[in-house]
Amino acid sequence: MNGWTSFEEHFPLLAQSLKHAAHTGRLSHSHLIVTSNPDLRLSFPPLLACLAACTAPLEDGAPCCECETCRMILNGLYPDLFTLAPTSKSRQIQIGKDADEPDTLRSFEAAFHLGSVTESGWKIGIIHDADTMTESAQNAFLKTLEEPSQKCLFILVTGRAGGLLPTIRSRCQLIQLTDNHCVYDTELFAPVSTILLDYTLHGKNDFAVAERCAGELIDVLDTLSDVAEETVNKKWESRLKDAENLESAGVKLLEKRIAGEVSCEYRRLREHFISYVHAWFAQLAILASGTAKDMLPNPEVMDAWFNKEENAKLRPRDVFHMLTEAEELVRSLRTNVNDELALRAFMLNTAFH
Ligand SMILES: [Zn+2]
Repeated sequence: MNGWTSFEEHFPLLAQSLKHAAHTGRLSHSHLIVTSNPDLRLSFPPLLACLAACTAPLEDGAPCCECETCRMILNGLYPDLFTLAPTSKSRQIQIGKDADEPDTLRSFEAAFHLGSVTESGWKIGIIHDADTMTESAQNAFLKTLEEPSQKCLFILVTGRAGGLLPTIRSRCQLIQLTDNHCVYDTELFAPVSTILLDYTLHGKNDFAVAERCAGELIDVLDTLSDVAEETVNKKWESRLKDAENLESAGVKLLEKRIAGEVSCEYRRLREHFISYVHAWFAQLAILASGTAKDMLPNPEVMDAWFNKEENAKLRPRDVFHMLTEAEELVRSLRTNVNDELALRAFMLNTAFH
């Protein structure tokens, strides 16, 4: 099963209408993908790009996922695919002084002023976490959205459409993907469950426990960038070895792709971390209301809770307070520049109320 067919299986109606639009040449030039599922935020944009640019589409308009163009897009090697994402430092997308300032809206847009070098002729731009564009960046981008060139496709992706100007939203075809089931790396996040269990059992009104748990969560969050680098490097290992025979321009391109993928993977893991913490408290609330384990959307997150030796009773009032705070934490981690501050504030607010 290729990426598109599995997407089609999950979202049959949406896939149908997208295929139809592509088939009849009416696919919008700008899309806004909104979903709380971090995996979809990364996996769907390339499929949409294939839908537009595939050089051998199926009869119903679906991308083949096998032609040279599709394969290059899916492998991240399509030379006319440009991505923009918030920099890890400011966690924002800035407008930038000019086209030479990397990772800014201006440098991203400049890539679309030249013609395409590819067989399909399509130029594709993906903006990850589009809600992190500053207001001036959004305003600058509006102009590009208003005057789309032929064969240009812009895909804005976000989990928080409210962070975008209404003028941006109204110029994009909205694609809402409501699949909240996230598949977590349970091994990677097991320590998070252990910390949250400790906190849930002992954190109430205990400053030292809240502080300790916050520190431990921050440590886990800090390891994610190393994990991302390791995962991506492993994937590209053999390719990098072959690269010894490539010209230096080829090696440079490859290195740029890898760096881009590392930052993508880091954002995916960070997003998983945030939603994992949220899933813990959301599911505690579900359990406190008397629901059985097998009815939970992500029971694996709660293994530590079910395997604990201590007896604990959940007071619905406490749990709902924790959940409210956890929702606030999710909001601030998605926008805040300081993870540490947000996590400490969350732990303390939740412990004392
Ligand atoms: Zn194709």
